[in-house]
Amino acid sequence: MKRLIFATHNPGKIGEMRQLVADLGMDVLSADEAGVHEDVEEDGTTFAENALKKARFVASTTGEWAVADDSGITIDALGGRPGVYTARWAGEGASDEELVRHTLEQLKDVDEGKRGASFHSVVALVSPEGEEWTFEGIVEGTVVMSTRGTPRPKLPYDVLFCPIGHNHTFAQMPDEEKNALSHRGKAFEKLKKFLQNKKTL
Ligand code: IMP
Repeated sequence: MKRLIFATHNPGKIGEMRQLVADLGMDVLSADEAGVHEDVEEDGTTFAENALKKARFVASTTGEWAVADDSGITIDALGGRPGVYTARWAGEGASDEELVRHTLEQLKDVDEGKRGASFHSVVALVSPEGEEWTFEGIVEGTVVMSTRGTPRPKLPYDVLFCPIGHNHTFAQMPDEEKNALSHRGKAFEKLKKFLQNKKTL
C-alpha cells in the first residue's frame, strides 16, 4: 500500500482531504500522525509558494510523499484581498469567528450584487526525492450578507461563501456537495488524475 502524508494541522482540511482521496486506496496520514508537529512559516507571496513550502518540509522530515493545500479567498470589491493572507488578515492567531466578523465588516458598505469572490486552492505534491508538482482549483461565487449554515472546524469562510449558481453557502451543504464544487475538490481531482497515471508512486 502506498502512503501519502497531508502536510497540515488543520482538522477541517484533513477531513476534506481524506474524503477527496478515499477512492485512491492509499494510506493517508496527517502530519501529526506522521510525527510532524511543527508548522512552517507561510511567508510566500503566492498559494503555490506556500503549498510547496509546507509539502517540502513534511516530505523531507518524513522521507515520504507529502501533499499540502494552500488556499484562500479573493474578494472583488477589495481588489482581490485577502488572497494569500486569508488566514491572517484579521490579525495573527485570529479565531474563526474573528475572521468571519472581520470579513463582514470589510464588506459592510458593499451591496449584494457587488460581492463577487473566488476561492483558490493550490495543492502541492512533493516526493521523497524532492520532485514537485502543483495542481490548482478555483471556484467563483459571492460573499453573502450574513452567515449561513454550520461552519466546519478551521474553515471559517464556509458560512460566508456561496458558489455561483447555488443558493446555499458551503456551510449549508453536505460534504460531498461542497467537495464536488470547491476549490480544493477541483485541485484534488487534478492531483488524483496525476497519481492514477503515475505508475512509480
Ligand atoms: P491556509 O491555506 O492554511 O493558509 O488557510 C487559508 C485560510 O482560508 C484559512 O483561514 C482557511 O481556514 C481558509 N479556507 C481555506 N479553504 C477554505 C474552505 O474551503 N472553506 C472555508 N475557509 C477556507
